[in-house]
Amino acid sequence: MPTNKLAENVFQIYFKEFGSCVYVIKQDRDNILIDTSSEENTQELLNELEKLKINPRDVHILLITHKHPDHIENNYLFPNATIYSEENINQLVLLNMRPIKVPGHTKDSLAFMYKDILFSGDTLFHFGIGRTDFKESVPEKIQESVNKLKHLPYNILAPGHI
Ligand SMILES: [Zn+2]
Repeated sequence: MPTNKLAENVFQIYFKEFGSCVYVIKQDRDNILIDTSSEENTQELLNELEKLKINPRDVHILLITHKHPDHIENNYLFPNATIYSEENINQLVLLNMRPIKVPGHTKDSLAFMYKDILFSGDTLFHFGIGRTDFKESVPEKIQESVNKLKHLPYNILAPGHI
């Protein structure tokens, strides 16, 4: 059962092998993915999308929480997707989707609030917060970023790893 249904059109795909969760917002042909996990999980990701009846060609938006390899290695599977990450997130215009800059785990970390679901990347987990000992981390910012997320009115936490 590697796919959880979080809401009517929102799914969480998780994997046994190392790699981030992939979140899917399914809406007709304009599907949205949040992160794409690692190369170890390519086939399983494709299998799970097929079960959800989503053709990779019908994914049009990729939202990237940060550029650690275990979150982005399958980006290439989605040739028709526009990829949004911290550097171009200001160009994102998407109803109900609010990007939030949360430096700490990495300088480029983002979270996304969609309706009452918080996609927190590697900043906030169910138990604990993200590591800040990478060279691309900004440890002095993590607490401020975590506090920002904790105060959002979310009901469902959807972190990068479960
Ligand atoms: Zn990370």
